[in-house]
Amino acid sequence: RAAAGPAADMGEETAVKGMRPVSEDTIAAISTPPGEGGIGIVRLSGPDAIAIAGRVFISSSGRDPRMGSGRVFHGEVKDNGLVLDEVLLHVMRAPHSYTCEDVVEINCHGGAGPVNAVLELMLREGARLAGPGEFTKRAFLNGRIDLPQAEAVIDRIRAQTSAGLRAASASARGALSVEIGAMKDTLVELKAIIESAIDFADQELPELITPELHARVTDALDRMKSMLAAADAGRVYREGASVAIVGRPNVGKSTLFNALLRESRAIVTGQAGTTRDVLHEIVTIKGIPVRLTDTAGLRETSDEVESLGVAAARQALEEAAAILFVMDTSDRDISEDRKIAKQISTTETPCLIVANKIDLMGQSRQDYFAELSLKVVDTIWVSAKTGKNLDRLEEALGNLLLGGVEFAPDQGHINRIHQKDSLRRAADALGRLLADMERSPELLAFELDEALRALGEITGETTPDDVLDRIFSAFCIGK
Ligand code: GDP
Repeated sequence: RAAAGPAADMGEETAVKGMRPVSEDTIAAISTPPGEGGIGIVRLSGPDAIAIAGRVFISSSGRDPRMGSGRVFHGEVKDNGLVLDEVLLHVMRAPHSYTCEDVVEINCHGGAGPVNAVLELMLREGARLAGPGEFTKRAFLNGRIDLPQAEAVIDRIRAQTSAGLRAASASARGALSVEIGAMKDTLVELKAIIESAIDFADQELPELITPELHARVTDALDRMKSMLAAADAGRVYREGASVAIVGRPNVGKSTLFNALLRESRAIVTGQAGTTRDVLHEIVTIKGIPVRLTDTAGLRETSDEVESLGVAAARQALEEAAAILFVMDTSDRDISEDRKIAKQISTTETPCLIVANKIDLMGQSRQDYFAELSLKVVDTIWVSAKTGKNLDRLEEALGNLLLGGVEFAPDQGHINRIHQKDSLRRAADALGRLLADMERSPELLAFELDEALRALGEITGETTPDDVLDRIFSAFCIGK
């Protein structure tokens, strides 16, 4: 199913799996990132890929790369007798390649000089410079992968944590496609029955639908709803979240920041107001890439450098997905904390109180925070200095960022806005259908078609062209 490919209405560019693809031109691009490295790869895909490479490649063994497939040839790329680079040439013949087309990958020495020279030569020999994501788009249009699998390619490239990579790998293997496919099968079954009720008007529809099928349709709707709920969690794994650490001077923000980083970046000091810049660092908390922002604290100050820091701190608060409000439990005076609490309460950002320095006082003052008139998600008692309960803090922060949703990276999941939009429309249509099955079969068929079309937008069969263009333009060139 996963490789069934887009429907025939995609026009001439569509090919059925295993058939020769139909792209007319040959594209070329540098597929490795800019800069110096061991190797740099120029990739060609299309009907003339092997011919173009064959014209400029001189094999050191004398074997002709135009004859081989799935093989690697050593030799030189020459431009009018001038050697551009010593290379390895990898020939993959259609359909056994990334794009399902003839593909040649030229492994050059990794640097701007060799790869640019080889790419330019390919363009002069008749290849066209590939657009962003065009290789992957061809793999999709040629039916080798479906849309979720194409999108998983970019998720893999961008994954910042092992959880993110696992989720992308599951989609790449077709986990989402399989789930959506199963939903579609159920709906198609239901549609056949509804259509028979339209054709044979004497039959009552509810009697035609077996309890078993009705249960499966209900299950499909439940699964849509849980996928929608998990969608935001998936986005958090993929894109990460930013978290602001706030609190008055000397409560231990920098110490906490460093403890979470497990390396020293912020300046830890006993003097107030020395963390002048807002520091950013990415840490992994419960598999989530978290951008931690350590602020200068939300307080008025006459020091010019520091007031800049205060403005930045306010902005960090607004933009954060969560706030860690650090307080010093060894200090009885909470008048300053109260001011910060007031600032926090003007934002919508959820807040965890980090009651710090319990190594000094213990958890003796549970009533300490009740006075702050602040809506907080939870209070975690920690010692940033000794590391006590930091695991609990990470647990609570992870749950907060995921919105309390259990996220199973290995299952089918959606994580893009267009997927969410389509799945919500499918769920709405199916919900309306199930809410009143007594309506005319024509009306029910209409809702069902809407649901099926929306599901097809996720797998790529009915995705509008502008959405497709947007998806692939987010890729890098050469992918
Ligand atoms: P900031 O101004 O909020 O960033 O506070 P710092 O991280 O610079 O910490 C201020 C002082 O409190 C430093 O001397 C830290 O060593 C100390 N401190 C921070 N966390 C703890 C803690 O959990 N226990 C103890 N005993 N001291 C701490």
